[in-house]
Amino acid sequence: MAQYTLKPDSDFAREIAQAGGESLKKCYQCATCSVACPMAPVNAPYPRKEMIWASWGLRDKFDSDVDIWLCHNCGNCSEMCPRGARPADVLSAARNMVYKNLTEPAIVGKWMSSAGGLKNLFLIPAVLWFVVWALRAAINGQWFPRAADGRIVFGQIFYGDYTIDPIFMLTFFGACFIMYRSVRKLWEMFTPQGRMLVIGPRKNWIFHLVDVLWEEVVTHKKFDDCEDGPVTGKPTQNRKTGHAFLVWSFVILAFVTAAVAMGHWGGKIVPAIHIETPMPLSFPVKILANIGALLLICGLALLTWRRVQLDPERLGSGFYDWYLLGIIWLVAVTGILSQCFRLADSIVPAFMVYYLHLVFVWMLFAYLPWSKLGHFVYRTAALVFVRMYGRS
Ligand code: SF4
Ligand code: SF4
Repeated sequence: MAQYTLKPDSDFAREIAQAGGESLKKCYQCATCSVACPMAPVNAPYPRKEMIWASWGLRDKFDSDVDIWLCHNCGNCSEMCPRGARPADVLSAARNMVYKNLTEPAIVGKWMSSAGGLKNLFLIPAVLWFVVWALRAAINGQWFPRAADGRIVFGQIFYGDYTIDPIFMLTFFGACFIMYRSVRKLWEMFTPQGRMLVIGPRKNWIFHLVDVLWEEVVTHKKFDDCEDGPVTGKPTQNRKTGHAFLVWSFVILAFVTAAVAMGHWGGKIVPAIHIETPMPLSFPVKILANIGALLLICGLALLTWRRVQLDPERLGSGFYDWYLLGIIWLVAVTGILSQCFRLADSIVPAFMVYYLHLVFVWMLFAYLPWSKLGHFVYRTAALVFVRMYGRS
């Protein structure tokens, strides 16, 4: 009979508590949570087993546990727990710890895990964009220059070709590379004993990825499954609409960014597709951008309202939750305000707010691998893994 050696880590339970799972010790292993979870499979359901691993300090078990990534954080288990042990928060804290330790450089993960690190996270892009501004102001001889025709054009300071495009491209591809390495590590952690044997035909991972993206992103079908769980007797705020708004706004804004980049760079070769920035409000790509911004604000408002309404005795909101909501709010508000100030011809606030907008957008992209948004990528990888190899 195979033996498994338990390797308790006395610091682990404390770290889980610090990361948001303070209620862990209340659990008396009744398993109500596993029955209440609408997502848990019949064999080896979660989150009861994770509660005992966390209280015993079994860090290794969490590293190789795909189940923590299958959880949708709906909070049904926490609502039904007779002890108020908040298993949903414990799973959420465990996920945060896994990707905090998984992603290099670890110092960013440390800053990202509490409000104390915010200052450093902010200062890096604040200095970067200030240097860009100062250099350009030194060349221009003005901090707030106007274009030759008198308009406010942010490119007069934050020149797209030599500053915004290369800085954001490097940041984005750097974040993608860091996440790729983390996903590889996560994938290896799921198979600690080596590659799993799969009997029978197996689809290529790309087909599984398409299935996962269809269910999780395009249709948000899994959110319905999650909310179809047992009736808790308590009002549960719908997460699907806010989440769907947010995801679709990201899709639209990513498309707009790609279209503008294509129009700008491609337009140098094919003048017919050239896009001039700033775009007029009636230009189709600009209309799409503003629809994306509106969806973003609506999604943020719904998700923020839901978090504010949560009963902290049952389902809490950790720093990771508020950091992501906060940074997206700041990106959205500074983006809209900089457009408003530009249209109102208020040059000083327009440039100041646009500078802050660049800082917050950089924070959103650069810290993506350590943030709750990176969780989307790790979760997708785990879901593809489960479809390919099953759960161990
Ligand atoms: S978390 Fe709550 S419901 Fe789950 S096993 Fe522990 S006490 Fe029971
Ligand atoms: S939060 Fe929802 S999906 Fe996650 S374990 Fe609890 S009931 Fe299941």
